[in-house]
Amino acid sequence: MSGQLIVITGPSGAGKGTSIALVRSRYPDLELSISATTRSPREGEVNGKDYFFVDRPQFEAMISSGELLEWAEFAGNYYGTPRPPIEAGIRQGKRILLEIELQGARQVRHLFPEARSIFILPPSLAELERRLRDRDRDSAAAIETRLQRAREEIEAADEFDVQIVNDNLDETVEKLASAIFRY
Ligand code: 5GP
Repeated sequence: MSGQLIVITGPSGAGKGTSIALVRSRYPDLELSISATTRSPREGEVNGKDYFFVDRPQFEAMISSGELLEWAEFAGNYYGTPRPPIEAGIRQGKRILLEIELQGARQVRHLFPEARSIFILPPSLAELERRLRDRDRDSAAAIETRLQRAREEIEAADEFDVQIVNDNLDETVEKLASAIFRY
């Protein structure tokens, strides 16, 4: 039995993290890949659980040794998916979620054409901006960079197998669960 990769992409603030956490609380067998990043931990984030927090030389060493399945630079930091847990999970027949940005999603689609890809959209850019400011997680400059990147990502939404507009969290969780399990 071979596993399945499910790529979930969408602009920062679209509600990916919350929706994925809710789906996983319902289906505890769903694995979520833990990425490496050079971004500093936000309050409450735990190393090895939310991300593997590394510095730039460490990340660059991971790139050169081929340890990353894909990687990208996003808003001034590196983000990448460690390869060994993905390969092991696929061998064990697991369903693994990758919550990654657009460049990484494209790399994964290229490597694993059978991966399913899901794009989560905010109801509008104005709503996205409001959510990013309200959650008060990032600096004003970081929010601007994220909004710029959001516009670019949204234009690519139709490259994905499934698009979900997150204007109601319960409905989004239902749609996400059915997109993950519909094959
Ligand atoms: P954040 O800093 O808000 O946690 O994440 C910023 C962006 O990086 C999000 O769009 C998130 O999906 C993406 N991201 C997180 N981990 C990875 C990864 O391993 N690879 C890629 N390409 N993007 C990632």
